[in-house]
Amino acid sequence: MKVVVIGAGLAGSEAALQLAKRGIDVDLYEMRPENTTGAHKTDKPAELVCSNSLGSNDVLVASGLLKQELRILESELIKTADEVAVPAGNALAIDRELFSSKIEEKIKSNPKINFIRKEIKKIPDSTTPVIIAAGPLCSEELSDDIKNFVNSEYLSFYDAIAPIVEKESLDFSKAFYANRYNKGEGAYINCPMNKDQYLKFYDILINSPKIELKDFEKKAKFFESCLPIEVLASRGVDTLRYGPLKPVGLVDDRTGEKNYAVVQLRQDNLCASLYNLVGFQTNLKWSAQKELLQSIPGMEHVNIVRYGVMHKNTFLFSPKVLKRTLQSKKRETLFFCGQMTGTEGYTEAIASGLVAGINMAKYLSSETLMEFPSETMIGALLKYITYEGHATLNPINSNWGIIKQDEEVNKKFRKDKKLKNEFYSQRSLKCLRAIK
Ligand SMILES: Cc1cc2nc3c(=O)[nH]c(=O)nc-3n(C[C@H](O)[C@H](O)[C@H](O)COP(=O)(O)OP(=O)(O)OC[C@H]3O[C@@H](n4cnc5c(N)ncnc54)[C@H](O)[C@@H]3O)c2cc1C
Repeated sequence: MKVVVIGAGLAGSEAALQLAKRGIDVDLYEMRPENTTGAHKTDKPAELVCSNSLGSNDVLVASGLLKQELRILESELIKTADEVAVPAGNALAIDRELFSSKIEEKIKSNPKINFIRKEIKKIPDSTTPVIIAAGPLCSEELSDDIKNFVNSEYLSFYDAIAPIVEKESLDFSKAFYANRYNKGEGAYINCPMNKDQYLKFYDILINSPKIELKDFEKKAKFFESCLPIEVLASRGVDTLRYGPLKPVGLVDDRTGEKNYAVVQLRQDNLCASLYNLVGFQTNLKWSAQKELLQSIPGMEHVNIVRYGVMHKNTFLFSPKVLKRTLQSKKRETLFFCGQMTGTEGYTEAIASGLVAGINMAKYLSSETLMEFPSETMIGALLKYITYEGHATLNPINSNWGIIKQDEEVNKKFRKDKKLKNEFYSQRSLKCLRAIK
């Protein structure tokens, strides 16, 4: 029996590779390059549309634990990400082009996978096993068909992308390399501001013209951790200094001076020629973005290679639509995965792609599907997005709040977050190794 996977993004590519590994034939459909999403720039599978960081690699951080779980479960995409990592302190940042090329090579050279460049407009009939992994920017016709199929709430909102700049255009007499609190290698570039410089920057920002939103976009709900800087700035003059521009732990060794605010830049490609502005998502007009960036010390002559933009983000109300196994409640032969299911983030998309692949394979061989325990980050995420008690669902990253809590442990380590996280992390990895 052949499985149709719709969408060769992060989740779809992982799902297809997991199925192929289990000896199952796959038709993997990708609509790009003929139809593109507005955020994707290439025709490659598993393209990272914004930041090149998959988040922390530290198992004492929730997203780091999720990655470690995925390594245990033999995720093909995390394995490849590890191979193309670029220096980024404790984070797993990668060379995005090399990553996508390697995934494309894995898919194309796999005799079990038939990679087809075609937009799927309707969900194939119920005799066909299908995994839908069309992402937050799913094509319109397929979105409509899914909406009809789920006959349920189908939510959408918009979030924003940060600009990418050329390192060579930065002025290193002002910018400096350092990680916050000197943790890890000095992989980040920092552009420091004193109070006057920050106030000037803030003034430009709040007076900058934004790209006009369409009527339906005005009702947009922003995901709190992806808020555009202009939205954060509108909350008060110091909001950015306590958010993405916080200066604490960032000191230029050459001067030893404390800063009032700092714009951080993270390496974006393996050869370190490009850097993205951390937490600097924006929907300002491009001319305004240029003026704003050029007001930052060290960026007076900055060359912007990709401007920030805002994009649609579509996802299901999973508590009504999906089981914890990512199987549709309404149709046994249908699974969903990726950001569409209400998770948020690259690693989370890969995780749900892996689960959909494993469970579709189990379904086809009439085995019991896997429900990952909520002691694990992967299980906690799936439990959260499918929890029937939700009146509304906000997209969710991996975080310690969703993992199964142990009150005794919480009490014991009330004042020591590190020990508490260590407990949950060890418990999860032990649990996963036992069920694998
Ligand atoms: C603008 C934007 C920026 C984001 N930035 C970040 C970030 O910086 N960090 C982070 O962790 N997460 C980010 N996310 C969230 C999320 O992690 C990514 O969207 C991630 O790529 C989701 O993976 P996915 O596999 O679900 O979807 P995608 O990777 O988007 O894959 C879906 C694929 O399906 C294809 N497709 C769609 N419709 C069809 C169809 N009808 N037929 C065939 N193919 C189809 C698409 O072309 C695409 O290749 C961002 C999301 C958006 C929208």
